[in-house]
Amino acid sequence: MKNLLAPQTLQFTRTANENAATEADRDAILANPGFGKHFTDHMVDICWSKMGGWHRPRVQPYGPISLDPAASVLHYGQEIFEGLKAYRHADGSIWSFRPEANAARLQRSAVRLALPELPTEYFLDALKELIAADGAWVPSAPDTSLYLRPFMFAKEAFLGVRAAEKVNFYIIASPASAYFKGGLAPVSIWLSTNYSRAGKGGTGAAKTGGNYAASLVAQEEAYENGCDQVLFLDSVEETWLEELGGMNIVLVKKDGTLLTPASDSILEGITRDSILQLAADRGHTVERRPISLQEWKDGAASGDIVEAFACGTAAVVAPIGTLKGADFEIVHEAREDSVALSLREQLTGIQYGKVDDTHGWMMRLDA
Ligand SMILES: *Cc1c(COP(=O)(O)O)cnc(C)c1O
Repeated sequence: MKNLLAPQTLQFTRTANENAATEADRDAILANPGFGKHFTDHMVDICWSKMGGWHRPRVQPYGPISLDPAASVLHYGQEIFEGLKAYRHADGSIWSFRPEANAARLQRSAVRLALPELPTEYFLDALKELIAADGAWVPSAPDTSLYLRPFMFAKEAFLGVRAAEKVNFYIIASPASAYFKGGLAPVSIWLSTNYSRAGKGGTGAAKTGGNYAASLVAQEEAYENGCDQVLFLDSVEETWLEELGGMNIVLVKKDGTLLTPASDSILEGITRDSILQLAADRGHTVERRPISLQEWKDGAASGDIVEAFACGTAAVVAPIGTLKGADFEIVHEAREDSVALSLREQLTGIQYGKVDDTHGWMMRLDA
């Protein structure tokens, strides 16, 4: 399914939405967008077929996708997605954060799900095309953004089990509020022991809907136990920390060392990678290695582990206040001088154009 040599840049056709939101409607939405509820006027749609490769790129009015009831995604879940944001800077310009990393991850996910790899150049062009149509939907209030959701799925109408020969790639966009309304209150996490989200050789490292489907019942269990989120352990030894199912996890030691799980079955977050890079720049030691639940319990009890946080594009960084299991609880007191919040400040500062982008992570989308 290699098709990475883009013969030429794609020529998008653009169809304007004749029922686009009025400026007043849009302003009302942007004043309080929430998360994932409202969508912009347009979407990107690119087709792929085994014979023809990537073709017919378009920007078209946002709206329902028509699917044959036999479309294989509906039966066998051959689907992948990405998540990134567009940020408005003080001068009005619109930027995204490390979009090439999202493009590369979409390619890795595609390989695992037997879907075609979208060339990086096409991915970046598609983002720019959507912003050219819907740039007015990027909000400007502090900590708001336009969440971009690229996704790809098997559209072929065929009930036989094999990789689909017809696939579509889309990007939709949804304005997003500041994720945490009441400041950065620590979140509570439930340790799942009844369920795993991924296994050895499975799809845990791919950003695919099925991983989320597998995590929902555990998330329900977290709610029943009064927790906000769920943490998964490895499925083989049920010993090693993996991730939250939608966010990665990092622990902070008293001496400033940052610990994060290394595993083939977790999704490698771009937020985590960036946070750890900023921490290393500051002189923190960063260890990416297997971390047992016992190490966290012992470290919290002895005072050697002083902070824990979750990270991902949507929430950026969320301090973890408690980890609850069936028969134990770990508590981390909120710290004013927390490493998590200080790194969050620097990262969002880069994203909003207020802090030096020393790694060249930002890419302009509206020029
Ligand atoms: C997207 C995702 C993350 C976070 O990745 P970011 O690139 O930081 O947004 C973590 N875990 C899972 C399972 C994910 O799907």
